[in-house]
Amino acid sequence: MQHHIQRFVNKAVIITGGAGGIGLSTAIRLAAEGAKIALVDITEEGLKEAKQEILHSAPDAEVITCIADVSKEEDVKAYVADTLEAFGSIDGFFNNAGIDGKRFPLPEYTPEEFERVMTINSTGVFLGLKHVLEQMEKQGSGAIVNTASIGGILGWSSQYGYIASKHAVVGMTRAAAAEFACKGLQINAIAPGGIKTPMAADAMAKLNPEDPTAAERQFASRIPARRMGTPEEIAGSVAFLLSEDAAFINGHILLVDGGQTCQ
Ligand code: NAP
Repeated sequence: MQHHIQRFVNKAVIITGGAGGIGLSTAIRLAAEGAKIALVDITEEGLKEAKQEILHSAPDAEVITCIADVSKEEDVKAYVADTLEAFGSIDGFFNNAGIDGKRFPLPEYTPEEFERVMTINSTGVFLGLKHVLEQMEKQGSGAIVNTASIGGILGWSSQYGYIASKHAVVGMTRAAAAEFACKGLQINAIAPGGIKTPMAADAMAKLNPEDPTAAERQFASRIPARRMGTPEEIAGSVAFLLSEDAAFINGHILLVDGGQTCQ
């Protein structure tokens, strides 16, 4: 096992979308740095497997799981309450759950699909900020990383819900930093480029259903780094933004994209 510095000893961190690619890798990284983990996701099965993976790499880690739909306020209140009951504080929050959404040219893009993506990706992030910040404000300490995307900075065609929802995450990150930095809280966002997770595999299959690997090769060839990123690379950046090493960084949108937005 790789040895990491221990920046999160005695710190409790909530991770939404914790059974997915980026969320799980981040949980593994934070547990390796000593964090107590509250893993939030939508299915019991996914959470069970994810918890086992965390304990496989960090056998002494304290991990709780919370089944929640991040777009439902009652579920959000419940994951906050469960974390407080188990660990007594919320020191870090990775507000990360999200979906990709379907791709359609605008004339075929339905309001229902727009609403579905916005509800999970934006309302979910909003509700997480609202209820976690209420607790962090009481504590007078805490750090948050929201998951945006390079799709929160760029526009690309056919993904209106995703692009709008991730621009909203960028905006809410800045708004929350503007409101809460004065309370000693740290709120930033990560903007990943193409990262090799189940979500990206689905996206490649949508781009080229006959040959997803060809779609990935073509996608990677347009990235200056000539490859997609790994969830572990996102995890390292999230750990930095949640740590005291980033204490004077607030409202920042950290691109982790192999230079994808440079051209
Ligand atoms: P992923 O592997 O699909 O993980 C996302 C996780 O969130 C899944 O476990 C998913 O569960 C869960 N989830 C979906 N809807 C939820 C809900 N309503 N409530 C609670 N959990 C829910 O995707 P990922 O690539 O790790 O993505 C994580 C975040 O990174 C997302 O916000 C995504 O937009 C962002 N991102 C990803 C990339 C990339 O290239 N991978 C790039 C930029 C940004 P199910 O699988 O059961 O639906």
